[in-house]
Amino acid sequence: MKFISTLLLILIVSGCQAHQNAQEHSQKQKQAQQDIQSSINTISPAFELITLGDTGGIEDGNLSSFLLRSVEDENFISLDAGSLVNGINVALENKAFDSLTTTPDPSLNPNGNILHHHVKAYLLSHGHLDHVVGLLIASPDDSSKPIYALSSVNQTMSDTYFNWQAWANFTNRGIAPMLNKYEVIDLTPQKTVEIKDTALSVTAFSLSHPLESTAFVIEHNNDMFVYFGDTGPDEVEKQGKLDAVWRYLAKQMQHKTLRGISIEVSFDNTRPDNLLFGHLTPKWLMQELTTFHALVEDKEQLSNMKVIISHIKYSLKRGTDPRAVIAQELESANALGFNFILAKQGQVLAL
Ligand SMILES: [Zn+2]
Ligand SMILES: [Zn+2]
Repeated sequence: MKFISTLLLILIVSGCQAHQNAQEHSQKQKQAQQDIQSSINTISPAFELITLGDTGGIEDGNLSSFLLRSVEDENFISLDAGSLVNGINVALENKAFDSLTTTPDPSLNPNGNILHHHVKAYLLSHGHLDHVVGLLIASPDDSSKPIYALSSVNQTMSDTYFNWQAWANFTNRGIAPMLNKYEVIDLTPQKTVEIKDTALSVTAFSLSHPLESTAFVIEHNNDMFVYFGDTGPDEVEKQGKLDAVWRYLAKQMQHKTLRGISIEVSFDNTRPDNLLFGHLTPKWLMQELTTFHALVEDKEQLSNMKVIISHIKYSLKRGTDPRAVIAQELESANALGFNFILAKQGQVLAL
């Protein structure tokens, strides 16, 4: 009560000040309100990311796959599709779709409703099975949607799977008869295109792996998220492909906000370089992120950005926990203060 009376007194006293002062005061207040509003705008999430699969192999049912949408739109893209229906099932159990505005389809279960009505496109980083098998086995019951990938990746999909031997040809190219469920769209490296029926656009970058892999820079307005398919470190691969992505992002970050990246760490630091097979370890990821950090002018943006670690290889060996080892190795090398998050199947992240 005493506090309120004091406050009232202060207000009355300030109300009694000269007219000019009052005007200045209200202008200041307006500016402060604008500042608060713009800071709210910058910290409120731009994207929602749902992990459908977090491992890079061994355990079926939990393989590389993420759903991403703009928070202003109800339509997702699928970034790789190693696990699809099983990933959606786990995500539904974890209530990961609770913030989605959806109308139940009386002809479909909730998982079918998500897959048919809310997953509007696939973006495939490369043709390895742990990134595409979920799409393949769901295809007989899937809805029609485009597949976006670099042309070499689309070629691998046609030659290897949609060939009437490994699988029926559900696409609109390759070996006849073509079932035309999936429209295959070739992405040109470093050329931005809108993703149909979503609020997102994509710019693809080639990555080094035993076969060509891809990083997808996804954008909505002035916000960016980057999904990295499998990749080796530049120092081992000698192609400078990650460097090209880091340079592009650093330039874009002069006027856009990078909300997060998802990048692989397949093995712990004991893995020798000659057995990386186009993958990263914590040591190599830290080296790449250090390169990136040096290129970015606004370091604060990097401290707000989330680094989602994917593709950790599941182990069948007794007494080993690759996730715990990799988490510890990343944190102990994290002098630059990156926000590492280990991807977990069924997890939903606001970015
Ligand atoms: Zn993989
Ligand atoms: Zn791979």
